[in-house]
Amino acid sequence: MSLSLSGVSPDPQGGFTRPVSRPIRARIDLNALHHNFSVARRHAGSSRIWAVIKANAYGHGQAQVARALQQEADGFALLEVENALALREAGFTQPILLLEGCFAAEDLQAVVRHDLTAVVHSPEQLAMLEAAPERPGRLYVKLNSGMNRLGFRPADLGAVLERLQQLDIRDVTLMSHFAEADGGRGIEAQLGAFSPVVRDTGLPFCLANSAALLNYPETRGAWVRPGIMLYGSSPFADVSADSLGLRPVMHLESRLIGIQTLAAGERVGYGGTFQAEQAMRIGIVACGYADGYPRHAPTGTPIAVAGLPSRVLGRVSMDMLVCDLSHIDAARVGSPVTLWGAGEGGRVDVDQVATAAGTISYELFCALAPRVPVTWG
Ligand SMILES: *Cc1c(COP(=O)(O)O)cnc(C)c1O
Repeated sequence: MSLSLSGVSPDPQGGFTRPVSRPIRARIDLNALHHNFSVARRHAGSSRIWAVIKANAYGHGQAQVARALQQEADGFALLEVENALALREAGFTQPILLLEGCFAAEDLQAVVRHDLTAVVHSPEQLAMLEAAPERPGRLYVKLNSGMNRLGFRPADLGAVLERLQQLDIRDVTLMSHFAEADGGRGIEAQLGAFSPVVRDTGLPFCLANSAALLNYPETRGAWVRPGIMLYGSSPFADVSADSLGLRPVMHLESRLIGIQTLAAGERVGYGGTFQAEQAMRIGIVACGYADGYPRHAPTGTPIAVAGLPSRVLGRVSMDMLVCDLSHIDAARVGSPVTLWGAGEGGRVDVDQVATAAGTISYELFCALAPRVPVTWG
């Protein structure tokens, strides 16, 4: 299967023309993806599911993820017309939603010709529609219910719908996006802004991201839009993916390429931010920030080596990081290491790595570097 997604999908060999001997690998477990989709399906009830595959399927490979979900997903949601067309060219016939709508008039032409579903979120996009020679019959209208990013104010919806009617666009779905479905203030205020207009217009709606789908069944509309949960990660800071019944899809693995023995008082890596309190063995892992591992992961970030849990020591550098082998006597050069996911090296919850590094799994997945060879299976 070779789908060309120019410049977006990492080449299966990370851009290399022959197998790479440097040991870092990302393994994408498509069975886990199917499993997670079935969890989303269970939560979705009778709502249809947009599988969100923006950002190269959160770094998991747009072509491979879409192919894997081709029978299960009711549609695919992404950003760029170019990526939508790559799916159409590869024979995908299901609905495709452009989450940010059209960026240019040419995009609208592609929407009409290739039967895409565009979001309209701004007066500028409305004007673009009015100026277009051809128009789609179907649109998503995005409302700003309080996130204050994209969308029309609910009070302006009436006027927007009138203009769409004049263009003979009648198949309209209302959409909005939650800022705090994963905790904090929750969704009450935003739902309070959104629900009345849904009631008044009687139009179908689409609201739920992963967090809302898992936490707030009342947000299920005609469609739901899960992303991160499909990739096996938790949208909540305080609830593990495991306890949500989700399985990791991306497994980032490497090996030890060096071992050092430190004397008490010796320091490790750039800036010497870790200092050994006593003599200890440390392992050097072929994985650095140029592979997508977060440079901000501090000493203590979880990692697994030769089947045992360990911790990162000192600063992550471009091509290497250091781990603690004090309690892992069996570790040798060549021993397997798991950065996140599960493998020969052991198990590491990506959400814990993200938390340690002050970020979220979304960012770690999306940052997987093109130089890391990826396998799907
Ligand atoms: C990314 C995105 C989603 C998916 O969010 P998750 O938190 O990954 O489930 C849903 N809707 C919109 C508009 C998005 O941009």
